[in-house]
Amino acid sequence: MTDTVLTYLQDHHDRFVQELTSWLRIPSVSTFAEQAQEVRRAAAWAQEKLVAIGFPTVETIATAGHPLVYAEWLSHPDQPTLLVYGHYDVQPAEPLDEWLSPPFEPAIRDDNLYARGAVDDKGQVMLVLAALEAWSRTLGGLPINVKVLLEGEEETGGEAIEAYVRANPVRLEADAALICDTHMLSERQPLLITGLRGVLYTEIAMHGAQRDLHSGSFGGVAPNPVHALCVLIDRLKGADGVIHIPELLAALAPPPEAEKRFWEEDPLHLEELLRREMGVDELVGDAAYPPLERIWARPTLEVHGIRGGFTGQGAKTVIPAEALAKVSLRLPAGLQPDEVFAWFETAVRRHTPAGHRVEVTRLNAGEGLLVSPDNPFIRAAASALEATYGVEPAFMREGGSIPVAALFDQVLQLPVVLMGFGLPDDGPHAPNEKFSLAQFARGMATVADFLGRLQRG
Ligand SMILES: [Zn+2]
Repeated sequence: MTDTVLTYLQDHHDRFVQELTSWLRIPSVSTFAEQAQEVRRAAAWAQEKLVAIGFPTVETIATAGHPLVYAEWLSHPDQPTLLVYGHYDVQPAEPLDEWLSPPFEPAIRDDNLYARGAVDDKGQVMLVLAALEAWSRTLGGLPINVKVLLEGEEETGGEAIEAYVRANPVRLEADAALICDTHMLSERQPLLITGLRGVLYTEIAMHGAQRDLHSGSFGGVAPNPVHALCVLIDRLKGADGVIHIPELLAALAPPPEAEKRFWEEDPLHLEELLRREMGVDELVGDAAYPPLERIWARPTLEVHGIRGGFTGQGAKTVIPAEALAKVSLRLPAGLQPDEVFAWFETAVRRHTPAGHRVEVTRLNAGEGLLVSPDNPFIRAAASALEATYGVEPAFMREGGSIPVAALFDQVLQLPVVLMGFGLPDDGPHAPNEKFSLAQFARGMATVADFLGRLQRG
């Protein structure tokens, strides 16, 4: 049966690329309020596609933010149910002048499809939809039960889906979840992700005098919030990469021996890959831990931007009255963002230089995740990847956060299959985001095969 499905995918490959192209033309940037209409259009596109595939139940669910798209096709009481997740919103495309072709006018160069959202995540949702369509058209139905849940605010915090999942655990009941929103190690080396870090994103507002001051008249006695923020950030994490939040460090569980060995030995030479991708000679960070442990299993503290004072052309001797920093932490699985936020806030207050007033706001948060490589759904995914690529997938953790994966794990208690088909140089949040069309094709084939392997009896 799977062979017929795979032939269907090959025969219809060009149309799938065209369909993806039409979806990518919709600039569904979830963070811009003025694009809300476009985000809704992208949701409507997905809804229509699910109906066309043959899902008997398809609906767009209004939320406080951008809508969710939900579909289900449950025709086999004796078969398992897979919950498929994806997102149809995209990151902003700026800086626009760095794109070789406009971000919302998809272009193919060297067998890559260039557009914002090409790999993250419309292209990877599309390959799952193509696999579902192939089964539906050749078998007249799906081999297992499938629920699809697509969100439109993954890039801005995913509050709507969190509320929906927490309120609808029965409707979303399943045996496993599939998320295609990550990348492989290389074109030849597939990857299954068995761990993700959580995230806690905050904003620190630093206040000094009641108004901006002149450094000639007040310099020497005036508080300076920009400087205070720099001091604070350095006290939270020094140049040696050591984070000074004692409760956070104390809460970390020791990693399993096998993983620890993989991180230390680095048999796939990932450290070199990291250096090359960043274009740097030296890695920074806490030298007490191997780089792979630092990116996958250690907490981070990063400042993403500081705003305040004068940065225009020329000179202006202002001492600003306030300044703002965006600071996030990545959290290894097992840490509760609520708890970490309390520790973080305490540390911020303790380390704020005298003479300043500080406010900390939590912008968003999500927990990390660990899945067992022995889970039968993970094993089916591994076999499907091996069938397509001819090599066993590597089992690795990933430093990024997919809060919805943790949500499925914690609220729905589902094993989460994180099987992505991006490549390391796809640039998902950068200018010239791309998706390899060869990977698009292999992704469809793998997911179609995976669905077939889940069928019992
Ligand atoms: Zn994504």
